[in-house]
Amino acid sequence: MKLGVPRGIRDLDPELYEFMEFVRDEFKAASRLFGFRLTEPASLEFLSTLEIKGGPSIRDEIYAFKDKSGMDVALRFDLTVGMARYVASRRGLPLPLKLASFSSSWRYDEPQYGRYRWFYQWDVEIFGPKDVLADAEVIEFTHELHRRIGLDLKVRIGDRRMTEGYIRGLGVEEGQKVLDLMRAIDKLDKKSESEVKEEYVAKGYEAKLLDSVLALSKIRGGVEAVDKVREFVEPTRELLDLFDLLKGKGLDPILDMGVVRGLDYYDSLVFEVFDDEEAGLGAVAGGGRYDVLMKEFGRPELGATGAAGGVDRLILSLKRRGLSPKTLETVVVAYTSGLEVEASKLVSRLRADGIACEMDPFRRSLRKQLELASKKARYVVIVAPRELEEGLYVLRDMKSGEELKLDYRNLVGALTRNV
Ligand code: AMP
Repeated sequence: MKLGVPRGIRDLDPELYEFMEFVRDEFKAASRLFGFRLTEPASLEFLSTLEIKGGPSIRDEIYAFKDKSGMDVALRFDLTVGMARYVASRRGLPLPLKLASFSSSWRYDEPQYGRYRWFYQWDVEIFGPKDVLADAEVIEFTHELHRRIGLDLKVRIGDRRMTEGYIRGLGVEEGQKVLDLMRAIDKLDKKSESEVKEEYVAKGYEAKLLDSVLALSKIRGGVEAVDKVREFVEPTRELLDLFDLLKGKGLDPILDMGVVRGLDYYDSLVFEVFDDEEAGLGAVAGGGRYDVLMKEFGRPELGATGAAGGVDRLILSLKRRGLSPKTLETVVVAYTSGLEVEASKLVSRLRADGIACEMDPFRRSLRKQLELASKKARYVVIVAPRELEEGLYVLRDMKSGEELKLDYRNLVGALTRNV
């Protein structure tokens, strides 16, 4: 008897599950902070519901089958469509409606590193407003979640209307061809430029046209990229407003015209997050505005914007950096000889403030304490005589070696934000 499981499907072993629960806990805490309410859309949908978004070709990419009554059904391939269908089917829900979900989906993808046929996603959506204030909120959430779990990743933003306007300006009029060319940009994540070009030339597109489309997709950067893109196409008001809002929130947005997202239901602002240290992983999160899907679900008055991320990919990024739930959650208080009582007081105070921490009960040298701490904690608080006299503690990031001198209140602030 074969005791395996189908390709692309895995058991979630205890180690993986521990990571998963860590991300789930941080996701739940961040959702609470931002006012998103937890929910879970149905796992099985009518195939026709999923086709509204992806068209009939979606069948090849998902788990679709007939149930015992002969009905065409399919396992959900993301959490967004189900939530959008749920919201569209109810009248009188209070707006804005901010929903969060953390669950698994199924796709008939080609399995590879970080790509499975059964995988977990986190997801937040805002229904109601057609305003960049909502887009800024989901992007800020994405950033906050990543920061909480110990990843500092940049959000790359594009606007499909700009890409579409530019392609039309090159003389491509047929809507289907415009979409097809946008998909060429999306394919650059998985294929080389020459492979994409070859594929499209074989389909009958002119090589020169492809060069022009791909040239736009290479524009990427901060404020300077916004100026550069003007040589190709005028930025939309919403994109400029979104950048201002995000900068005001202390985030550092990147304009990336290579971000268009393959799914057809996004219509304007889109974004993706990559882990530059894990190039082969693909996007760890993505999202955008999809008012057009609400229109197709019969609710044109409702705006919709959201973000979703791959939990399994986040875990691979954490592991690659040597981070684990334990190292991220535990703080070690280290002390110089003679300050044991002060250190012990600090440990109790931090625990009372909800921060998991410990100190060395062997009264070993500070050097030895730090050496041991580097193996089990990302952050160490050092109690040292000179700083203590000024009412300060030293917070050391064991990964970067960076040190901050903080009073107790700011120390707690930094630890609750970082740990
Ligand atoms: P998407 O809706 O395709 O943009 O997916 C959102 C996020 O889910 C992506 O950024 C990935 O991190 C993750 N994801 C998508 N497909 C898979 C898959 N087959 N296996 C693992 N993670 C995935």
